[in-house]
Amino acid sequence: MEVVIIGAGIVGVACAFHAASAGLGVTVLDRGPVGAGTTSRGEGNILLSDKEPGPELELARLSRELWDEAGKELGPGEVEFENKGGLVVASTPEALAALHAFAARQAAHGIHTERVDRADAFEPHIAPGLPGGVHYPQDAQVQPVLAAAGLLRAAVRLGARVRTGEAVAAVTGTGGRITGVRTADGSVLTADAVVNAAGTWGGEVGRRLGAPVEILPRRGFVLVTEPLPPMIRHKVYSADYVAGVASSEEGLETSCVVEGTRAGTILIGASRERVGFDTAMNPDVVALLAAQACRLFPFLRDVHLLRAYRGFRPYCPDHLPVVGPDPRVPGVLHACGHEGAGIGLAPGTGALITAQLLGRPWRGADPAAHTGLLPDRFLTTGGVPR
Ligand SMILES: Cc1cc2nc3c(=O)[nH]c(=O)nc-3n(C[C@H](O)[C@H](O)[C@H](O)COP(=O)(O)OP(=O)(O)OC[C@H]3O[C@@H](n4cnc5c(N)ncnc54)[C@H](O)[C@@H]3O)c2cc1C
Repeated sequence: MEVVIIGAGIVGVACAFHAASAGLGVTVLDRGPVGAGTTSRGEGNILLSDKEPGPELELARLSRELWDEAGKELGPGEVEFENKGGLVVASTPEALAALHAFAARQAAHGIHTERVDRADAFEPHIAPGLPGGVHYPQDAQVQPVLAAAGLLRAAVRLGARVRTGEAVAAVTGTGGRITGVRTADGSVLTADAVVNAAGTWGGEVGRRLGAPVEILPRRGFVLVTEPLPPMIRHKVYSADYVAGVASSEEGLETSCVVEGTRAGTILIGASRERVGFDTAMNPDVVALLAAQACRLFPFLRDVHLLRAYRGFRPYCPDHLPVVGPDPRVPGVLHACGHEGAGIGLAPGTGALITAQLLGRPWRGADPAAHTGLLPDRFLTTGGVPR
């Protein structure tokens, strides 16, 4: 079977890696360079801690196992994979009670959680006097662009082909079945299946494939400090982050996540705003994120910021990715809409897409176990997107 994967972000290359591992013929097509979309615009958190029990947590659990395997296969140093664990802290007794209840629901679904009474026993430089938190030993971190490049190199070693600088224009087909894609410059790539892994542009690419899905941009900023000696051991965030992630508010939301990197810089993320593809800097976001980070780690008050960058998370109205065959155009599959979790969820998505292409389970991904992510959840009986 020949598969064309549109998008060389982390999700597309994870699909390429798994499909090539399964022996499928794979071509990855991107209008730009590898990993230059949202994959290069976020952090590299691989989180179970922020996910409610449900379809996304199940994909995250699978992905977490596959990240361990990929980290070993690609070389943990090569992709800066760190099995560092997450620490979620509450700032009030009420927030702590809510966090404990949330963690208990996750634990009932197999997530490892440990109550923490003294946050400073885990993080010596954290603000004193916090009432407590929860430690999530399975949370991890990776450098997203290195990981995308590493997975794609591994896919190429398995026979995958890569075409950059070429945008997809349309699917080609005959007799109700696709035969490939046509690129903007008129080239035709023959394929039995086409995977829409175009991230935040998945809606537009879906339309070109005759299978529109609603994917919207959700802007986020990340702050980067000057390099420091190691000061922060885990991924640390406040308990209100989970509500921010799940919210559908259009206005600005900030709830910071703080983490050290191998290079010594500290990343402070992230904001959420629905402002379309507006690339303008928002100084209010920088001030809010910096203030929240300094409340968590007071030593940051004396640390310089080097820069701030921003990206557009691929956002579905129900906050779940769209993964699977589109019933309107046989042969088209979607793998997009991962919002603020696409790095963490990429390996599971790649395995699931491969299982759907093969029609049987692949590397722990059983299509029957992930039906909550299928694109048909957006379709009315008439086949028109909601
Ligand atoms: C501020 C911020 C912080 C984040 N932090 C995290 C985090 O800590 N952990 C986490 O898991 N996730 C995080 N994310 C989210 C994560 O970055 C995304 O979910 C993920 O990168 C999406 O990957 P993707 O491969 O789907 O999309 P992308 O990386 O955007 O790749 C899509 C590709 O499709 C290509 N494309 C588009 N249109 C066409 C076309 N017509 N023809 C050919 N190619 C096309 C693009 O060029 C692009 O390369 C964050 C995002 C932001 C903005």
